[in-house]
Amino acid sequence: MVKIGVLALQGAVREHVNCLAAPETEIVVVKKVEQLADLDGLVLPGGESTTMRRLIDRYGFFEPLKQFAEANKPIFGTCAGLILMAEEIVGYPEGHLAVMKMKVQRNAFGRQRESFETDLHVTGVGEDIRAVFIRAPLIVEVGTDVEVLSKYGDEIVAARQGNFLACSFHPELTDDHRFHQFFVKMVKETKQSLNK
Ligand code: GLN
Repeated sequence: MVKIGVLALQGAVREHVNCLAAPETEIVVVKKVEQLADLDGLVLPGGESTTMRRLIDRYGFFEPLKQFAEANKPIFGTCAGLILMAEEIVGYPEGHLAVMKMKVQRNAFGRQRESFETDLHVTGVGEDIRAVFIRAPLIVEVGTDVEVLSKYGDEIVAARQGNFLACSFHPELTDDHRFHQFFVKMVKETKQSLNK
């Protein structure tokens, strides 16, 4: 049995919960810091990263989230969640949780393409993953230990660094649950390897 939380300060929480449904998996809507303690994995949803950061600070989540990452527990950030995970954000003095070696640019697609959908190849996940982009960030640089999982044209839109997974788009807004199920598998594998 694994326990996966969805940080519920802002964004499409219910949709993530639905996508994570799997055998031997309990999903928790995380509203209080104490709930992080017995989680095996965590999803950081989309929304608005500066607002989310304000709420993280207001409710005392910042240090506990950093510790969660330092414990090397799996984290999956989508859209604004990806921004929270990046070490560097173009135009900002510092990152937020800064747990992945990558540089991101917020709202990178410009006005004409604020929102759009497309099918993407995501390594290890699928050939035709439906991707919904909404004022999406782009990954403009990755460190050597970051694996690029997907590109839209030349632009990096999904990546993994060890137990940390992030994408620019919103897999929770489609009926295709493969990306979330990939994360569930990561969480189960991590828990198994810790118990060995
Ligand atoms: N543009 C938002 C930000 O910078 C992210 C958009 C999203 O999560 N859909 O935080």
